[in-house]
Amino acid sequence: MKKIIHIDMDAFYASVEQRDRPELRGKPVAVAKDTARNVITTASYEARRYGVRSALSVAKAKRLCPRLILVPPRFEVYKQVSAQIHEIFHRYTDLVEPLSLDEAYLDVTDSPCGKTATQIAREIRAAIRSELGLTASAGVSFNKFLAKIASDLRKPDGLSRILPKDALAFLDALPVESFFGVGPATAKKMHALGISNGKDLRERSREELTEHFGKTGAWFYEIVRGNDPREVEAHRERVSLGVEDTFRQDLVGAEACAEELRLIAKELDRRLFRANFSGYTLTLKIKFADFTQMTRSRTRDTVFAEAEDLFRTAKNLLETHLPEGKPVRLLGITVSHAAPVIPGEKTAKPRSRDDESQLLLPLDGNENLLKKVCRSS
Ligand SMILES: [Mg+2]
Repeated sequence: MKKIIHIDMDAFYASVEQRDRPELRGKPVAVAKDTARNVITTASYEARRYGVRSALSVAKAKRLCPRLILVPPRFEVYKQVSAQIHEIFHRYTDLVEPLSLDEAYLDVTDSPCGKTATQIAREIRAAIRSELGLTASAGVSFNKFLAKIASDLRKPDGLSRILPKDALAFLDALPVESFFGVGPATAKKMHALGISNGKDLRERSREELTEHFGKTGAWFYEIVRGNDPREVEAHRERVSLGVEDTFRQDLVGAEACAEELRLIAKELDRRLFRANFSGYTLTLKIKFADFTQMTRSRTRDTVFAEAEDLFRTAKNLLETHLPEGKPVRLLGITVSHAAPVIPGEKTAKPRSRDDESQLLLPLDGNENLLKKVCRSS
């Protein structure tokens, strides 16, 4: 049986601001640039009492809480603090998988320190408090899914564990909305099938669940039995993420290329989200029928993260640099120059939780697309 800890900092960006600026303590604080177009990245617990949450627009947050203090984000500082938190984790194990700047899984099954997972979680929380002046919540269990759920049970500043002997009873009572991979659409479908909690879910056969939910159905079947085989994957820093496509027939002209670029941008957007990655540089790659190739890049001070944005930038590079009349056999878009994933910076469409369920689903195949996904590091 594995021993997994999920650590989640409490209101991370806002807590760092309150730590560094004592005048903000005890006050409703939200981290966001103060313009109507922006969204809240993190709200302090004082602000959450008014209903201010991350991903809410600044305008709406101000309406909910007129006294709200907006603080511009300092991502460099958050990154530094995140590195300090990771230094603490690595005192116990090198099997650390970050989910974002303020969240990580630790596999302490074979930790050389000889302590129990709960002891380790306790010590990590204490170190974060005393050395960094911040609070974290921790969940301890025997797989990732349950550890993550556990860290949320006594948030903020709490520690919970779900032991193997208690797991099934715990899962029985868990609303379907809390299962990893269940977004609003799936939840609705489950309710229509009379499945509202783990107990209902466990009563359904693998066949039935697969029939209704495809591959994710098989995942639900396992997870509701406490089986989550996902390993904690120690951090391999991703440097870039790209999608490229070779065409069956060469494309001629910017217009034909743009059509394909739109599809590539859409797929790249999905992969960026799945990988929790974004970057400040976009590179367009064009390979010609004669096998020569060119790349053109654009770097800017906001991240590339949305399909439309990726498409427009790539199209712009294409229109500027594509030699006239030269047949194109391959197009690719890559995002690099990694940035921390910042919910508030991704303006455009909000990501629904159903996007998460795609983590588990096969790509619905646009046949011509995605022959190759480049992943360099
Ligand atoms: Mg957090």
